[in-house]
Amino acid sequence: MPEVVTLLVIVAGVFGSFIGSFLNRAADRVPEKVFRLRESQCTTCDSPSPPWQNVPVLSWIAHRGKCASCGSPISARYPLVEAITGIAFAVVAWWFLVNADAGAGNAAQAWALGVVMVAFLYFAAISIVLTLIDLDAHRLPNNIVLPSFAVAGVLFTLAALLSADWAALLRAGTGAAALYVFYSVLRFASPGGMGGGDVKLAGVIGIYLGWIGFGALVVGAFMAFVYGGVFGIALLVLGKAGRKTAIPFGPWMILGGWTGVFAGESVGHWYVNLFIGA
Ligand SMILES: [Zn+2]
Repeated sequence: MPEVVTLLVIVAGVFGSFIGSFLNRAADRVPEKVFRLRESQCTTCDSPSPPWQNVPVLSWIAHRGKCASCGSPISARYPLVEAITGIAFAVVAWWFLVNADAGAGNAAQAWALGVVMVAFLYFAAISIVLTLIDLDAHRLPNNIVLPSFAVAGVLFTLAALLSADWAALLRAGTGAAALYVFYSVLRFASPGGMGGGDVKLAGVIGIYLGWIGFGALVVGAFMAFVYGGVFGIALLVLGKAGRKTAIPFGPWMILGGWTGVFAGESVGHWYVNLFIGA
């Protein structure tokens, strides 16, 4: 890796860990609709802490997992989410910057790639916060999912304007419509299985997968059911769930989506080549 890429990946990782702190607070507070940005992590005393006590991961370690004000234990989930968000941002940045070496022919193409990278960093952020909220509260709140259509729509339209890659934008729109309709049918076919939040999230994931390609769209949509199915069977076998236990599906849709993003196109080419024999 060129040094500038290494540096940018590290910057993305550090930036991501701060976004992770923000996601922790959003995950705690969005479901209650009392969303305040600048607060401490302590849900016991809720006293605002100075910035040097809000350094991702390190503050938690320095205070040995306790609140600096009141000494209440602070869950290891907080530094874990910060670390995971940092790693996710670093991986997304690395993925796009390495592709940039090969793909960016001119300044407009480079800018387009940057805009697409921002769109995927946003996707990483909502992936993490929606997973936390769906696991905690079995919900995918509209106040995160619905604005995501606008954020992704604006960023990918801008990227298409810069790169003139209108085919990608058309695929993104097709992907959104296809997954939205598919999940609507599933919800209609088995009420109680899918929630309305799942249907809307499917539309958002469809935008991202469609932008990457149809291989990504198919693999991403399919893998959600593989992950969810394996997890559901594991719970049944372990006796932790009955046939009627509601398992949040959002996290599996998201995990499937990211599998589609990173591996979908390769899998798609391999599958097509099986039949063409190329
Ligand atoms: Zn406290």
